[in-house]
Parts: sequence; structure tokens; C-alpha cells
Amino acid sequence: MSLNAALNTAQETAAATLSGPLLVLAGAGTGKTRVVTYRIARLVHSGIKANRILAVTFTNKAAREMQERIGALLKQTAAAKLKPEISTFHSLCVRILRRHITKLGYPQTFAIYDRGDQESVARQVLKEIKVQDASLKPAELLAKISTWKSEGISADNVHKNVWSAKDYLASIAYGHYQNALKTVGAVDFDDLLLAAEELFRKFPDVLKSEADRFDHILVDEYQDTNMSQYRIVKGLALPHRNICVVGDDDQAIYAWRGADVKHILSFQKDWTDAKIVRLEENYRSTQPIIHWANTLIAFNKQRHGKRLTAPCDGDSPVILQCRDGETEARTVVTRIKERIEKATVQPRDIAVLFRTNDQPRVFETELRSQKIPYILIGSNSFFDRKEVRDVLAYLKVLNRPQDDVSLLRIINTPPRGIGQTAVQKMTEVSVAANKPIWETLNTPESSNSGGNNNNVSGMLPSMPSAPLNPNLLSFRHLIESQRHILERDFSVDNLKHFIAEIQYEKEITRQYAEESERKERWESVGEVINAAAEYIRESREESRKPVLWEFLGNTSLAGPDFTSGKSETSRKAGNAVTLMTLHSAKGLEFSEVYMVGLEEGILPHHRSIKASDEDEFAVDEERRLCYVGITRAKRRLTVSLALNRFKWGKMCPTIPSRFLYEFTEQTGSPNYWRAIAGEVPQKQSSSPEKTA
Ligand code: ATP
Ligand code: MG
Repeated sequence: MSLNAALNTAQETAAATLSGPLLVLAGAGTGKTRVVTYRIARLVHSGIKANRILAVTFTNKAAREMQERIGALLKQTAAAKLKPEISTFHSLCVRILRRHITKLGYPQTFAIYDRGDQESVARQVLKEIKVQDASLKPAELLAKISTWKSEGISADNVHKNVWSAKDYLASIAYGHYQNALKTVGAVDFDDLLLAAEELFRKFPDVLKSEADRFDHILVDEYQDTNMSQYRIVKGLALPHRNICVVGDDDQAIYAWRGADVKHILSFQKDWTDAKIVRLEENYRSTQPIIHWANTLIAFNKQRHGKRLTAPCDGDSPVILQCRDGETEARTVVTRIKERIEKATVQPRDIAVLFRTNDQPRVFETELRSQKIPYILIGSNSFFDRKEVRDVLAYLKVLNRPQDDVSLLRIINTPPRGIGQTAVQKMTEVSVAANKPIWETLNTPESSNSGGNNNNVSGMLPSMPSAPLNPNLLSFRHLIESQRHILERDFSVDNLKHFIAEIQYEKEITRQYAEESERKERWESVGEVINAAAEYIRESREESRKPVLWEFLGNTSLAGPDFTSGKSETSRKAGNAVTLMTLHSAKGLEFSEVYMVGLEEGILPHHRSIKASDEDEFAVDEERRLCYVGITRAKRRLTVSLALNRFKWGKMCPTIPSRFLYEFTEQTGSPNYWRAIAGEVPQKQSSSPEKTA
């Protein structure tokens, strides 16, 4: 690959601007990510050391791809040995925190709590303050906490932002939640960003030492940065001012998570001498696909008007109008099958994109029955499997026994005679004393009834000399001895030995009757070992000592975009149809895209339709999401809808998505208004398909 070819004039201008602030503001598929990659290669060629360059991408997958592309561009050059630091915001923050978090009163081995862990804490906290599920559910509490965090509102000043009884409960619970996390030395995903920002704000020397590590910063998908991310990047870039950001305001789809598109639009205010480059030529998609994209996005009023051009012609996109949800899945999958059988396209070049997490289920069923390999990205991920969570919880306890959530998960899995009542009592004692359970477990007074009999009386204050329950004693011994081994040497052999020690294979046999299921679950445990082996290999290659906490940090961050399919074969084969949400498809491309469920209430989502009563722009973000979906397709785009769908067990008629009418330019037709009013239109598009 040559560094001088393969860029058009505008892209070349951006890639050749090697210093100072630079903004590339351009539509989908115009080569923004390509510019970032080429610019990094150029910087290295110009003599900048690769490890002095930081590139921030949105997902781990994007980071991996960029690393590979840069590797290919720099192949055969002497500079190839050093690598630029390419990471997501979250992994960047984890690295910063490992170096400095002790200044904020957290341990260096802090645990990162994922969604499942957070739910356990939320449940415990709501129980503690005696809040019923009907008043505030754990998921609602977490959503509120996340919103507050993304707005920079801490538990200490949340009371100023409380407007309803529910908010009030949540604000009290927020304080308890933060306290629970701090007690066990854990942070959640939002905290990763907030803590890094806090470190920068409170400790100028920390900011200086972190900023000193780089001479250049590049950020992809800049339209989706939230306040903390914005401040972190700005802080790191201020000393050298070599900051390049690329993005597209039409693809801003994370406002609901606190992202603010104004950061990209006001880049020039922060960096007054910023150079701005615009790209207009779309290299990804055919002309008819781009025509739909342009037509749709023009319905958004608040935007920096831009029109994409696409040089190459192709097939018109297709609308599939199906009788019901199952027919939709069958029709889409049958088409996919035909395409694959004709060998026109490989499974890996096809994506099915959906808006909500309950949509893929019917597609999975259909893909399995038609024997098409697939991978489901995001939800139901590999890291959500019970056996994987169990083994990782063990490793988290070895890393930090004070991690309550993980400790509670494994204290009696596999069963070792530590009863429910004993565990509950220990938890209560710990909460009252504001101490991690591990510390309570080490005192005989509060834990000497650990036996199977769930003997409550044993939990009453006992003689100080009472012996520790033998089952707890041996559990404690197991954790302590293995901790030392893995701390000294985090190797595959030691890991395998540990898993044998806890007899997890036996636990799988105990839990699952079917041989095939046992095999599949045991293989997942094997995958954890494989992931560790991969991490250990990489660390050694980079002459770093592999350490357990770093491996755990990587796996926590891998969660959201780790891939998994129900069929093991598809995961291993690597040539599988991708099922993913529109949000996680950002930045990616596929030859053929099927965007499903184009109905009012799904896309646009009912929440934004509801919000549009008060906010005339509420549906715009959904339109941008639809625009992201359309522009993922290179050659063929198919969108589908079901005319009827089950809601709470009852088949109900649906309303076709307003976006269908917008991108097919039928908004002026009576069909549009009839459909919005709840009637089914006769004709859907300029290239309609029969109702299946
Ligand atoms: P998105 O907005 O979706 O993130 P993007 O602007 O980052 O898109 P890229 O992913 O960089 O766009 O590029 C889109 C596709 O076009 C890629 O397949 C890329 O390789 C190709 N491409 C970009 N520029 C050129 C070029 N000058 N010549 C040939 N192909 C190009
Ligand atoms: Mg991109």
C-alpha cells in the first residue's frame, strides 16, 4: 500500500496537515477514518515516534482495525516497531487511572463494574434503603445515575437536580451506590471518564504527566463525545496543540448518553486557528443508496447542510413489507440465504441492523433453522454467559477479594457449604460497618455460622474466640493461596490449575444434564483461558509483565462489543452474518445491509416520539440513526417492516415508519398521512416489493 496514492485532494490536504488543530467535518463514507489512518502513517514517516501518537476510536473493534491498517501502511519501514496508542476513551481512562487513581482514594487494583455488577449493587442499595421495586427499579436507578454522571452531577450535589418523588429516591440511592462502590474499590463505566477528568482537574501534575506522553492526538467519531471526553481530550492536547478530530454532525447518535454535537461544531471556538477540511465524495455506497441517505437527512432542520455524492451507480434499495414479525424474519433470512447460495456474497459481508435489543431473537431463530452462520454483537455477549461470568468473578476476587459483587457470586459456587443465611448476615454486618465482606469474613464473630444448616443463631454476637466456620476457612485459604500464585506469575498453566482447583468442570456437570450443553459451556471457560493466553502473549511481545488486573480491565472493556453467536461454529468460523444494533454499526460497512423493523415506535423509537410532544427535535436523533443504518451499505440495501406485530401477546397492526416515506420522497402523498394516522398504505416506495 502506498502512502501517496489512494487519497483524493481534500483527503490529501487533511492527511498532509501534520501539525496544529485540524477538523475534518464530513458525511458518511467520505473517508474520515481513512484520513486518520493515513495521517498517522504520515506522521510516523515524518519522523514522529509512533508511541507519541494517541488515536481515540469509538469501539474496540474500530481500534483493532485501525491498528491493522496502520501496521499494513508502515510495513517494511524501520518505524514499524513502535506502535501508536490506539484506544477507546474508556481504555485510555483505565490506563490513566491505573497510574494515578490512588490519589482519589481508590486502590490501584480497582475493579471495573459492568452492567451485571452494577445491577447487583443497585438491588442491594435499594434493599438497604427499603425502596420497593414498584417505586424504583434497579434499572431505573442505574439509568438516572448514568444520566446524572454524564451531566457531571455528583452524588454530593444531586439534590439540586431533583424534581420528582422518584428522582428524590434515586438521589438518595445514588449516594449509597457510590459509597458501596468506593467501599469495595470499584468504579463503573461512567466513573472511568469522570475519575480521569477529576484527576486532571484536581492534580495539574497528573494532567501534565499524561499530556507529556503524546505529541499528537487524533479522535474519530468526534460528534459523539460527551462533556468528560471533551475535557479529557482538550486537557491532553493543550500543551502541543496537535489535535485532529474527525466526525459528522449528521451521525450524532449518543445525545441520550450525554454526547453533545456542539463540541464538533464549536471546535473552531476552542482552537481559533483550526484548519477545517470538508469531504463530500462518498466512496462506500452506490448512488441510489446515497440518494436515500441525502433525502432522509434533509428532513432534519438543525444541521450543517452537506450533500454527499457517490460516483458509482447500482441497484435501487428495496422495501420488504411483511405480514408480521415472523414473516419479516423468514423473508429477510430467505433472501440472505439465496444471496449466499448464489455465491454472490459471503456471509461476513452481510449485516442485519435493528433498533432495539428484543428484535434479533426471531432473526436468530430463523438463521439457525436455515443453517446460516451468524454472530450477534453486543447484547447477550460472550461475557454475559453464566460460566464466563463465574470464572471471571473468581479472577476478580483473586485480584481484589474486597470486590463484594464478585465475592457474593462465587462464595458458594460450586457449593461448598456456605449457606444463604450466613452470607446474608455477613453482608448486613459489612454494610453496617461500611466494610467489604472479605474483611467481615475474616472475623469469626460475624461469620461462624457459615454451614449448610443456615443456622441464624450462630450469627448472633458470639464469643470472640469462636472459631471461623471451617467452610469459610477453607474458602479463604483457597483464595489467599491462589492469589499469591497468580500475583507472582499470571500464566496459562497457573490459570488452568486454578480452574481445576475450584472444580468448575464438575459444577458444569452438576448444573446441566445434556452432554452438548456441558461441552459448550466448558468450551466457553476454555475461551476465557484463550483470551488470557492471547493477552499474556501480547504483553510478553511488548516486554511487559502480564498481570491479572490488566487482563480483567481488558475483558471488562471488551464486553460491549465482543461478538458471540449462539452457534459456536459460527463464532469460530469467522465467516458469519452480523446481527447488530444501529448504534453499534457506526463506522462500519457491509456489502449488503438489511435494516429491519421500520415502524413507528421501533424506528423512530417510541421514547423519542413521546418526547416530541415537548421537543420538536426529539425525533431527529432517530433520523440520524436511520441515516447511519442506510450509509453502512456498500452495494445493496434492503429495509423491512411488519404490518402486524405481537404486543404483550396480542397481534396488533403497526404504523410504517415516517422515515420510509421520507427517504422515498412520498411525504406529500396521502399515503403518508393515512399511514401516520394508523392505516396501512397501499404503496410503499418507488420500488415496492410484494407483501410477504
Ligand atoms: P463513516 O462516517 O461511516 O465513519 P468514514 O468517513 O470514516 O465513514 P471510511 O470508513 O474512512 O469513511 O471510508 C469509507 C470507505 O471508502 C472505505 O471502504 C474506504 O476504504 C473507502 N475510501 C475512502 N477514501 C477512499 C479513496 N480516496 N479511494 C478509495 N477508497 C476510499
Ligand atoms: Mg469512520
